[in-house]
Amino acid sequence: MRFFTSVHLLLLTYIIAIIVFWGISLQKQNTRIHELQLNTLRSQVDSTQYPAIYARSLETLKHSRSARTAQYVGEGATFLIVILIGAVVVYTSFSRRIRLSRQQNNFMLSVTHELKSPIAAIKLNLQTLEKHQLNEDKKKQLLDRSIKESNRLNDLCNNMLLASQMEGGMYKMAREPFDLSELIEDAVEDYAIRYPRRFGQDITGGCKIAGDKVMLHMAINNLLENAIKYTPGDKPISVTLDIKNNNAILCVKDQGTGIPDNEKKKIFNKFYRVGNEESRKSKGTGLGLYLTNKIVLQHKGRITVRNNTPTGSVFEICLPV
Ligand code: ADP
Repeated sequence: MRFFTSVHLLLLTYIIAIIVFWGISLQKQNTRIHELQLNTLRSQVDSTQYPAIYARSLETLKHSRSARTAQYVGEGATFLIVILIGAVVVYTSFSRRIRLSRQQNNFMLSVTHELKSPIAAIKLNLQTLEKHQLNEDKKKQLLDRSIKESNRLNDLCNNMLLASQMEGGMYKMAREPFDLSELIEDAVEDYAIRYPRRFGQDITGGCKIAGDKVMLHMAINNLLENAIKYTPGDKPISVTLDIKNNNAILCVKDQGTGIPDNEKKKIFNKFYRVGNEESRKSKGTGLGLYLTNKIVLQHKGRITVRNNTPTGSVFEICLPV
């Protein structure tokens, strides 16, 4: 990217220098033509004998000189403006392409890791179960871990599938009434089993909405998964549901790493992840919040993120009841 920017700037400077050089040459030529015409006029018309004719011819010469100046200055300026617009268009579209391809590259790296690591973990657990005589506790521990890993794999596949279906306009959203409070309670309970003593909840009961239960389940799971992923193991996560002015307000509050203000909007972009592959500790695909935002928008709701106090983030989903 830096190489492209340098070459781009170099070319642009070269083109501008050439245009300025042409302008100066034309200006010199114009002055020379004017002087030649003036000399010819002086040799042909005697200014003392025919002052009126001389003055008129002189005026004509001055006029044609100004017309020539206006022509090359106008054409040069138009040319320069077109070149500058072209340069800006080329630069922005090229840098957008580079950014996208970098994000896609990151995505491929993360997906490969995300797919391989749970498969490797499940395989290892099964091989241990097969080869060794283990006590019940140890067996249960290995089976629990395998279930956790296969859940992760399942979430990832669902996200990828849904992203491509939504992109192709193939997903038809259901619109049926269901109990949002129950859905959130179930999702949190599921996570509380997988991550004991991490979740606290305060869910207002009986919140009915019309929409796609499967999609909303996925959106809630994405928020819970992120809260776990970006929060240190000893910090609690709180999930609340309130009803205000005919809106269901779901909040997922964590005390994790938090999100810098300049990243808050970007995290909803496809494949976007804060930081870069080298510095990031957690693995992911940058699809979760992109999909969550899409799902919420399809339900005519909105999702926002703000800072939690003293640390962490609060993700808030507001859905019409
Ligand atoms: P993924 O988690 O797979 O990277 P997401 O789309 O779910 O993708 O999230 C995008 C980015 O937003 C993450 O990479 C992370 O940097 C940031 N993020 C999301 N949720 C949180 C959170 N609860 N705390 C801190 N950062 C978060």
